[in-house]
Amino acid sequence: RTVYLNGDYLPETEARVSIFDRGFVMGDGVYEVTSVLDGKILEFEGHLARLTRSLNELGMENPLSRQEWLDIHHKLVALNDIREGLIYLQVTRGNPGDRDFAYPPKDTPQTVVLFTQNKPGLADNPQARTGLRVVSVPDLRWGRRDIKTVQLLYPSMAKMEAKARGVDDAWLTEDGFVTEGTSNNTYIVKDGKIITRQLSTDILHGITRASLLRYAAEAQMQIEERPFTIAEAQEADEAFLTSASAFVLPVVEIDGAQLGKGTPGPVAARLREIYLEESRKRAL
Ligand code: PLP
Repeated sequence: RTVYLNGDYLPETEARVSIFDRGFVMGDGVYEVTSVLDGKILEFEGHLARLTRSLNELGMENPLSRQEWLDIHHKLVALNDIREGLIYLQVTRGNPGDRDFAYPPKDTPQTVVLFTQNKPGLADNPQARTGLRVVSVPDLRWGRRDIKTVQLLYPSMAKMEAKARGVDDAWLTEDGFVTEGTSNNTYIVKDGKIITRQLSTDILHGITRASLLRYAAEAQMQIEERPFTIAEAQEADEAFLTSASAFVLPVVEIDGAQLGKGTPGPVAARLREIYLEESRKRAL
């Protein structure tokens, strides 16, 4: 695999980063995951805008221009011959030369890494036909979940808790309400209405979420942005989640309670179809 590191395209075995890099010792970095379908980049503008926002929130500059980012994405897709897959992008505050809680001087070069993951079958995911099972886990993450930082230990622990309990993923809860999934935004459907938590610092502002809600509104579907509880979700007609790598995936069981007939519902299926069609049209 060929990866990108600070301006160079290298075999992955030759891409090396300092042990003093703040991404490594402090979790001081941000990332994006963008999907590739038919060899084209989905939602590029959305991911770039959120990257810039994450960087700004942490007092970092965006090191590259829109065109430079897009060129790197295209070059990695070509070099690695990706038809369906993911592009992972990470920017850290770089190597200050020593470990210190204070940020290093502004002119310290950031570390920029991108790599691809080949995922044939990303669009034709069998989980779209079977649905996912989830359990609720307390949301013990930090208070700025709107910043897409590489500090992923708690969601990783929650995912392991879900696996240990024999299901696919965890839905995180705080003050009695669902915030989001370990790596996705969460939704329920009741009487045809799509309900999803409103944006705040409590959740990541999903790029898939933003586009999906726009497409759903254009398709005259009803949307309500508010928090919901696990009990309400268990009583819903349908549930689903969204992310750049999952697109839209139905959820058929929450904390052991089956939703409806325990099979994926029509609203989630329709939204997955709409999302794939519309995002493919806009792919770069
Ligand atoms: N919420 C969390 C915590 C995430 O980690 C992710 C994606 O990784 C999402 C939501 C979904 O965001 P997006 O649709 O931009 O992939």
